[in-house]
Amino acid sequence: MERTSDSAGSPDSARDDVKIIRSRVVVPMVGEPIEDAAVAIVANQIADIGRFKEVKARHVGQILDLGEQILLPGLINAHCHLDYTCLRGRIPPRASFTDWIRAINAEKAKLTTGDYVASINQGFAEAQKFGTTTLLNLTAFPELAAKIKEPIRTWWFGELIDVRNPDQAKQTVDLAVASLKPASHWGLAPHSPFTASSELIRRCEEVARREDVVLTTHLAESSEEMQMFRDAAGPLYDFLKGIGRPMDDCGGQTPLSSLSRCHQFDERWILAHLNELAETDFDLLASGRKFHIAHCPRSHSFFGHSAFELQRLRNLGFNICLGTDSLASNSNLSLFAEMRELLRKEPSISPREVLLMATVNGAHAVGQSATLGSIRAGSRADLIALPFPQGGADVYESIVAFDGFVPWMMANGEEALLR
Ligand SMILES: [Zn+2]
Repeated sequence: MERTSDSAGSPDSARDDVKIIRSRVVVPMVGEPIEDAAVAIVANQIADIGRFKEVKARHVGQILDLGEQILLPGLINAHCHLDYTCLRGRIPPRASFTDWIRAINAEKAKLTTGDYVASINQGFAEAQKFGTTTLLNLTAFPELAAKIKEPIRTWWFGELIDVRNPDQAKQTVDLAVASLKPASHWGLAPHSPFTASSELIRRCEEVARREDVVLTTHLAESSEEMQMFRDAAGPLYDFLKGIGRPMDDCGGQTPLSSLSRCHQFDERWILAHLNELAETDFDLLASGRKFHIAHCPRSHSFFGHSAFELQRLRNLGFNICLGTDSLASNSNLSLFAEMRELLRKEPSISPREVLLMATVNGAHAVGQSATLGSIRAGSRADLIALPFPQGGADVYESIVAFDGFVPWMMANGEEALLR
């Protein structure tokens, strides 16, 4: 890595506010990779991208030569719960999703506020080391957002559950909104159709329209959720009935059809999972508005859910992005590992398409296509660099194969210290 100041013949003309970053190849994710390329950065924005020679001719500033590296946009994690970073390895896979819920509830009962703050901070540090520059974090404790100085761009979602107190939907939402509003980016996450009342979801939708924020929820994640809504039976049905949830919405429906009855999912929504879909659900999806879908490949494997219908959902026009879910059902916060797991299960898609899901598609889900997820003039300077492949390997293949912590990162125009 080499740093020089390009003064273009006159020291007075050197502008310290322009940074030119050169690398062997730049992969912008919009358009083709550019060999011997550079980006010019002013403050936290990309001002220019092109061949190094051309960028250097157009701008004067500090040059950072990354050498034999691939420069690409930082990754976007579209679904995670940093609250549970400290639960890594604590809950082995269970045959029953409901048993996993019982197990995580038992672990959560042992944690203090201090544990959660430490867990979230550790999660941020780990995600960043794995090359994530934007993260959509669902937290069960929206009040903790103010206690944390996040090192990367974060959408804080208040994860809301009112299954034990459905008469307090308004207070639950208002309290979360008051805690989240000081954050740069926030949204609401009514947890799921089995833990959030229709009234709670309706109030979240009202806030989202008023405040212009994003919504997310878990939907059709497990076969036990399907069994509950379709057959009014099964372990999840029994568990929720046992804690006093009114079960009159169960029987003769699917999780998707049940929620679609009262709520219109549109581009404001990111629905996590959608693993369990009936044929009638695909009819609904074909005729309805198009929302975004967060898929978490390794968490999906951990639970052994039904196959995720990636190609069918893509063909219907849904924007599919990638998440890690929490470390209560995953081993680390690497999106590279998520991309590899998805390729393993879906060999028909290309490494480039998988990388799009972890960059461009995540940006689209939060309405930031022009500023995040790609390298173009006007986008935020959220960048990572990886070693250039030996022996002429495909650049996208080698990006997806990258294993470990990224050697270099820039977040919002600042080089991050990753050690
Ligand atoms: Zn989740």
